[in-house]
Amino acid sequence: MSGGNIVARLPFPVAARKELGDAQLRANLRNATHTIRDKRLRMVGEVPDWEELRRSGAAIKDDVLSRLPELLTQFEAAATAAGATVHWARDAAEACAVVTALVRDTGTAEVVKVKSMVTQEIGLNDSLEAAGIAAVETDLAELIVQLAGDTPSHILVPAIHYNRSQIRDIFHRNGLSALTDDPPALAEAARRHLRAKFLSARVGISGANFAVAESGTLVVVESEGNGRMCLTLPETLISVVGIEKILPTFRDLEVFLQLLPRSSTGERMNPYTSLWTGVTPGDGPQTVHIVLVDNGRTETLADDVGRQALRCIRCSACLNVCPVYERVGGHAYGSVYPGPIGAILSPQLSGGGANRTLPYASTLCGACYDACPVRINIPEVLVHLRQTGPHPPAERAAMRALSWIMRDRRRYAAALRAARRGAAPIRWATGRRGAVRHLPWPLSKWTSTRDAPLPAKQTFREWWAHERTR
Ligand code: SF4
Repeated sequence: MSGGNIVARLPFPVAARKELGDAQLRANLRNATHTIRDKRLRMVGEVPDWEELRRSGAAIKDDVLSRLPELLTQFEAAATAAGATVHWARDAAEACAVVTALVRDTGTAEVVKVKSMVTQEIGLNDSLEAAGIAAVETDLAELIVQLAGDTPSHILVPAIHYNRSQIRDIFHRNGLSALTDDPPALAEAARRHLRAKFLSARVGISGANFAVAESGTLVVVESEGNGRMCLTLPETLISVVGIEKILPTFRDLEVFLQLLPRSSTGERMNPYTSLWTGVTPGDGPQTVHIVLVDNGRTETLADDVGRQALRCIRCSACLNVCPVYERVGGHAYGSVYPGPIGAILSPQLSGGGANRTLPYASTLCGACYDACPVRINIPEVLVHLRQTGPHPPAERAAMRALSWIMRDRRRYAAALRAARRGAAPIRWATGRRGAVRHLPWPLSKWTSTRDAPLPAKQTFREWWAHERTR
């Protein structure tokens, strides 16, 4: 089993119930997700060949997944030839140990970090802290979360669950003076705080959005420019990269640099795209390490249906359209990957039945599939994971009985008639509601979170037969 911050401490229904009680959280999420999703829709609508771009993105990623070992070897050779040192890590513990040892070798006790999902996934900050090394997040939203002693709740906007005045209070508590809750004033306070860190840091730690196999190039796209400071100012740069980030050729970037900004921030082009290939003498970091992380990706690749989750480019479009995410927020998912992609990625990466409630954290409405720029069929994977996950004996017996009834038309019609007759007194007792709110145990497990609808008074077939004979 893989490790890191991808296993929920609480089952999703328990965590979600707690988050649902927070009205402020729901208001913050609703405002933020609706703003981003509207912007995304406008930007996507501008591109006449958007569907073809999506298909190209999916095809390139599928090609990568079908020959991942070959491309990774090619990437390692190219990056090494360009002066980088490539390390391999099977799981979170190994990746953290490699990075911690590399930082220790430099003799520094503070590193600056550009926002990176994989370093959150492996729990790098905690490992560094245990080794006496402070990791300073430099992405504004990531910094807010770090100062609040909190965990991120969105892939792209980690502090989405806070509004402006909450952020001003967090800054005040940490000695960053912002006199108003105006976004430019808050950004200026963060800038002053971070500038000193950038200028003194000797080690930068980054992730990568893409890794080009043919040239050994790493790519980071971001909106603030803070990432670029991390990538260029320190003497040593350590990039931690999931093995699925590979693209075969430089040309393939053309597709993803169109798909990613429109899907994530609703921008035509992201403001900062940084590319680097190994070491350039006299320019930028003179020691470059790349840690390639597996952490459950190989097991995910082995699943014919579930492997499509590895196409993900972490744009977060699926989160912003998900009705479940909008109401419970990212913390309920218990993993650094929340929302629809988290509901399929976290259980697969963590393996061993961990996170088994997450594939149920969806209405299966399909909005995530429509929004996904690389056409990951998230509902298909959710259903697949529900089928392959463990089920209680009572549920298995009930499903076997239902399947026996539904295999025969006459049996099905007889069962419906019996159910209607049985429900008649309950319908009378509940008046016009047509649903029961409380059932005795074990059916109370169902009605504790939802109503149980009563069978319709008349089936469609009966209604149709009646209409035809009128
Ligand atoms: S699953 Fe698709 S929509 Fe969701 S974050 Fe990944 S690429 Fe974006």
